[in-house]
Amino acid sequence: MQNQFSDFRSDTVTTPSAEMRQVMSEADVGDDDYRDDPTVIRLEEKVADLFEKPAALFLPSGTQSNLIAILTHCQRGDEIITGKGYHIYAWEGGGASALGGVIVNPLTTDETGEINQDELSVSIKKGSGHEPSTKLLSLENTYCGMVQPIEKLDMLTRIAHNANISTHLDGARLANAVIKTGNSFASYGRLFDTVSLCLSKGLGAPVGSVLVGGPDFIERARRQRKQLGGGMRQSGILAAAGLYALEHNLNRLNTDHHNASVLAQKLSQNPVFHVRHNLTHTNIVYADIEPDKAESMHAHLASNHIKVNSAEAVISDGKIWFRFRFVTHLNIEDEDINRLIDCSNIFDG
Ligand SMILES: *Cc1c(COP(=O)(O)O)cnc(C)c1O
Repeated sequence: MQNQFSDFRSDTVTTPSAEMRQVMSEADVGDDDYRDDPTVIRLEEKVADLFEKPAALFLPSGTQSNLIAILTHCQRGDEIITGKGYHIYAWEGGGASALGGVIVNPLTTDETGEINQDELSVSIKKGSGHEPSTKLLSLENTYCGMVQPIEKLDMLTRIAHNANISTHLDGARLANAVIKTGNSFASYGRLFDTVSLCLSKGLGAPVGSVLVGGPDFIERARRQRKQLGGGMRQSGILAAAGLYALEHNLNRLNTDHHNASVLAQKLSQNPVFHVRHNLTHTNIVYADIEPDKAESMHAHLASNHIKVNSAEAVISDGKIWFRFRFVTHLNIEDEDINRLIDCSNIFDG
């Protein structure tokens, strides 16, 4: 189906299919603040089982899921170690500090988002003397579409646990890593105390994230959700979409990954783009362009009904480039990719 627009901005832009809307409209519901909604309970049990964790909590967004994890793991004045480009540091409006009073220590990562294990070891603070005390290591997979090797996650979480630090995985796009690598959700669940998983990214639900962890932790997280105003009532309508997404949209992430690699390969035939193949692991393609061409390319694509985010300045190979990211998802089909390729091939800016 040729849509009016081809929207490569994010995998959050997907709209629920007719089948998903159907199951939403038929969902059994109750008041979830009374723990009375059978569909929410079914979703929480399903995601807890996937991760082989005892408990789960359904939340309105991935940002709230990470924030509640932080508020539950940490006290005011505690420190969280994370990565410099990671979502909890870079894209959550400083919520952890504003609302949790925690200090976030963002370690530099390599281009694919990996934290160096020695840097982690030397950054952990015991809270002696004047130091804050490090309470949480928060990692991310995928990081901007890049799969973090499970051996590396294993090593980093071991370092943290050996130092008595809790571990959280921001798994907003963990489903993409699961499908790409063949590792189970549980294989990641075993490494981390808590994990958050988004239903509204590549999985295609309109709303929702699930946080998994131990029973006491999830009870305390439930109270945090209430404090933040995130308790919902007949939210089974939304949970039904999440259940549908896990049943029908998980394996099809392979198609998004295939489409992204086709797109990367075709874009690299256009000399205006320097496609970063080493950064293109799952459903996000990165392509750099000379700084003076970034705005005109963006306008050219927009005038041809192609939506992309503005390119961001980056330093790569020792010079400044502007980097576009193109995200594939369940509303991107062959025609959309061809439209983008054909359109960028006639760019003369
Ligand atoms: C999208 C995303 C989130 C949170 O997303 P919401 O828009 O709040 O649902 C958190 N972490 C990562 C890595 C993400 O990509």
